[in-house]
Amino acid sequence: MSEYYAAGLPTPSPEVDPETRPYWDAAERGELVLPHCEPCGRPFWYPRGFCPRCGGDDLRWSASDGRGTVDTYSVVRRAGGAWASAVPFVLALVTLDAGVTVQANIVDCPAGDLAVGLRVAAVFERAEPEDLPVLRFVPVREPEAGAS
Ligand SMILES: [Zn+2]
Repeated sequence: MSEYYAAGLPTPSPEVDPETRPYWDAAERGELVLPHCEPCGRPFWYPRGFCPRCGGDDLRWSASDGRGTVDTYSVVRRAGGAWASAVPFVLALVTLDAGVTVQANIVDCPAGDLAVGLRVAAVFERAEPEDLPVLRFVPVREPEAGAS
């Protein structure tokens, strides 16, 4: 039987820091926004109230289409707590087209499709209504450039 990495992984419900409220508000709408440092002119990850490069707090939140590429991944087959019943699942590093690298789960993915270089798109999942919407990625099939 072929392995399949299903959606519906556990989601957390931590307190939301006021500095990251714009990220979570967008996630509630199913939209991915990235913190963007105005002096550096670049986005960064993860969301926080200051730029990890220059330490500044002159930030805005820029919309992302959520598209990216799998850089590397690991299939987790043993886990504890709420995750114990979710194995096997995939933890990956995804570099968004906007240039930031995100650690996240890949879901809704047959094992045979999982690969470095796989094109993925952001989705938000939550297991319980009171949980936060967690950023995850699903495989996408994109048309070849120039195809009609
Ligand atoms: Zn900066």
